[in-house]
Amino acid sequence: MSKNKTYSSALAHPIFEYISKSAKQLQLETYVIGGFVRDFFLERDTPKDIDIVAIGSGIQLAKAVAELLPNKPKVQVFKTYGTAMLRFDDIEVEFVGARKESYSEDSRNPVVENGTLQDDQNRRDFTINALALSLNEANYGYLLDPFNGISDLQNKIIKTPLNPDITFSDDPLRMLRAIRFATQLNFTIAPESLEAIKRNAARIDIITRERIVEELHKIMRSPVPSVGFILLHKTKLLERFLPELTNLEGVEEVEGQKHKDNFYHTLEVVDNIAKHTNDLWLRWAALLHDIGKAPTKKFDKKNGWTFHGHEFVGSRMVYKLFKRLKMPLNNKMKFVQKMVLLSSRPIILASEVTDSAVRRLIFDAGEDLESLMTLCEADITTKNPSRFKKYHNNFKIVRQKFKEVEERDHIRNFQPPISGELIMETFNLKPCKEIGLIKDAIKEAILDGKIANDYEEAYRFMLKRAEKLGLKKQS
Ligand code: ATP
Repeated sequence: MSKNKTYSSALAHPIFEYISKSAKQLQLETYVIGGFVRDFFLERDTPKDIDIVAIGSGIQLAKAVAELLPNKPKVQVFKTYGTAMLRFDDIEVEFVGARKESYSEDSRNPVVENGTLQDDQNRRDFTINALALSLNEANYGYLLDPFNGISDLQNKIIKTPLNPDITFSDDPLRMLRAIRFATQLNFTIAPESLEAIKRNAARIDIITRERIVEELHKIMRSPVPSVGFILLHKTKLLERFLPELTNLEGVEEVEGQKHKDNFYHTLEVVDNIAKHTNDLWLRWAALLHDIGKAPTKKFDKKNGWTFHGHEFVGSRMVYKLFKRLKMPLNNKMKFVQKMVLLSSRPIILASEVTDSAVRRLIFDAGEDLESLMTLCEADITTKNPSRFKKYHNNFKIVRQKFKEVEERDHIRNFQPPISGELIMETFNLKPCKEIGLIKDAIKEAILDGKIANDYEEAYRFMLKRAEKLGLKKQS
């Protein structure tokens, strides 16, 4: 790849012919710009979005293209932004008129004027995102690269086209985008851009939580998420929206006893789990599994460093964190809470496996047992090879035990063998707390292995338990 060249092969998708034809009819200079061009040179998977810039009205161009397309798609117009969008096959094509932007201190919404292609390239966040290919008949496929974006692509550099302090201060979301691209693409942020992020970190506060989370998700979905989190930490961005994590940093020593650095340990766990699952929420669980350790940390002479109850405290913190970041307070959050709450249980099992503890964990984890084991295996970050092997072997034993107990006792999708209705009928009861007490006692007896998970044994147990409560069977 090089400058001053034509890349018609990038424009193989049929949509470009339609756009080019419409642009010619309207006599509008038109280019494809941004992520599509970058990803073509990076040979990344075919992108789902195409950004088109016209020197004039993008909306007018979009409407003309839609007219020309065989399926006559609907054009969605966003008047406030001067943009329009249509779908063709499986791609979204966004049209915008070239613009010049100027920003004020307290907002990331710029004052916008019509501009030239160069003005439009100036407002792009990074040199690699400012590349444009011509869709004009005279030089179809010609590359326009005013900021040496191609050489930054080759050298794997993220760099702002203009003064980075201005670029980041104008729209602080770009700081997160820089780190996100560095993580996704395994690129380095140019030193002057990185320094500018550090200087402007506090400006991230004007960005909505939703947009921050969107970028965090993209970092989290990357092959090695720690790259992003370490950059976020170094630039002092992370502490502004995830202080629960940065509070885990550091090693304390008392009377010669140290605990591990739980921040860097957490990042290792996230990288480990990223090798074994694409489940975004399980990755989040890995990121948050130890957050309860900062507020519960204690040292005493007898036990050394302890983090008693950190799983419970941590799962409560998950709710507050999700709420603060405006993340969904739904089943996904409940899943993360559950993983954090149960995150130490298999490790305890690994040192002492009893049938009843196995049954209880199968019951508590339910359908998420496999996810929990994936998290716990990722949690093994010891650098001592013999311990590493030992812990993994212990988990193999735990998994085997899960299988044996589950085959015998069927705890995973536990359905009480005795229903509330049957208890009411047997003892002629109206709804009352005794019914709950009996049901609960039956469940506990099964989990403890005192009775089998079947109707006959549970029925006999119910009669005994009811007698103790002074209830008489209906004759
Ligand atoms: P991805 O699809 O992976 O997010 P992308 O580069 O296509 O990558 P979009 O958010 O779709 O990301 O943006 C399209 C283009 O718009 C970018 O390539 C860039 O040129 C420009 N852009 C997006 N956001 C900004 C921003 N905050 N500041 C300046 N330019 C931006």
